[in-house]
Parts: sequence; C-alpha cells; structure tokens
Amino acid sequence: MPTFILDLDDTLIPNGVFYLKSILDYMSFLYEHQDFNLHLPNVSDLMTIIIKENRKLVEKNGFVITTHPSAYEQVYRNLCDERGISPISEEIVEIRHMGEFPFRVDYSRYGLLPGVRETLEFLLEQGDELIVATKGEVGEQRRKMEETGLFEYIKEENFHVGLRDKIEIFGGLWYNRTGDIVYSVGDNAEHDINDATIFGMQGIYIPPFRNRMKVPVFVNPERVRRYERFSDIRENYDLLVNNHP
Ligand SMILES: [Mg+2]
Repeated sequence: MPTFILDLDDTLIPNGVFYLKSILDYMSFLYEHQDFNLHLPNVSDLMTIIIKENRKLVEKNGFVITTHPSAYEQVYRNLCDERGISPISEEIVEIRHMGEFPFRVDYSRYGLLPGVRETLEFLLEQGDELIVATKGEVGEQRRKMEETGLFEYIKEENFHVGLRDKIEIFGGLWYNRTGDIVYSVGDNAEHDINDATIFGMQGIYIPPFRNRMKVPVFVNPERVRRYERFSDIRENYDLLVNNHP
C-alpha cells in the first residue's frame, strides 16, 4: 500500500504569500521611515538581512511563532544602533504586529490549494495512507489543519509536527513501513525531499510559487520526481505507483 507523507505549508495550503505580504509591509515601513529611508540597502539586500536574522532565530529556537516578529524587531534595533538613534517602543509594537500577520490569517477563508481536495479524495479511494508531516509550532499547524478541513482526510494519529525539521518524523514513519512505497511530497527540497530520501523514501517535489526559478539540489535525485502541481500526483498515478522495482 503506498503511503504519502504530505507537507502542509505551500503544498496543501497557501502560506508563503502571507509571509511575503508581511515582509513587504515591513520593508515599506522601513523605506518610508524618515530616519532610515535614504540610507537603507536596496530591496533585495534588505530582504536578505531580514531573512538571515530570521534564520538565526530559527536555529536558536526552532520554528516558533515569535521568531518572525522578533526578527523584524532585531533588524529595526540594529538599524537604530547603526545610526545612533533610540528605538521607539510604539514602532516596535507596530513592527511586531506586521511580523505576526501570517499567524493572524484565517485559513478557512483560503482553504486548500487548487486540486488538493480532489487529489486527496482520489488517493483515499485507492486505499493509500495519507500522513501530514510539517515544521512549526504544534498549535499553529493544528489550527491550519482545522480551519482548512484537512482532518477530513488525515487521521489525527497521522498528523506530525517537528519544531526544527522533519528528520525524526521521517525516520519513525520509515522504520514502521518496511516493504511499502513511501512518498514524501513537498515544496522544500531540503526539509521535504532530501531529509526523506536519505531514509530510502521517494520524493515528489512541487516547487513553491515564490522561487520557481531557484534550482533545487537533491541528494538522491534518482528517487525524486518533480511535478508542477499537486494534482499531477493523480494525473500520473498509475505511472507513479507501478514504476518501482
Ligand atoms: Mg512547505
């Protein structure tokens, strides 16, 4: 019986677009700020600075929901420091509010990405096992599952959340499923595909909307398929599951 381990954010539900809105709002604030505007790096360099600050905090604390607002606050404080001006507490509140935007999104308004519902129904009809493995904070990831109705398709015991990555989840699932074909499906080459294929799983990579131009690096390319959209799993199903030694 094939098992599909599905990523959540930007595989089953929209997510990156909310981060993009948040970061653009924050950058607009900085460019419009009279103490900074004429002396800021260009858009792509400024974005890199913010993303690096975010990554530092993720490495320290994992994917907790305070990471994003704290990264915005830290970048703002650094900019103040460099200019010898004092941070303003009202501005910090405003900035953190922008950073919290993705966590205030009502996911029931957006639902599942196009083609996801039909494909999940199809896979269940085939008798396949569906699992969600996602990075993040448990409460927040669960909220998204509930608001988008995903628990209709995913059993409670098949919902797994990793604070930093999904390696332990993949390891546990893999060792319980000897002899089955196990696919890991996701938009992140490292966390969804490489961390799964190192155990022997098959990878199905569906590039995210925001960096389709980026060339992903796979550690086990012979076990990775690239599909353009989630519904391609259904379109190519026979070829996919009957094509293994
Ligand atoms: Mg994802």
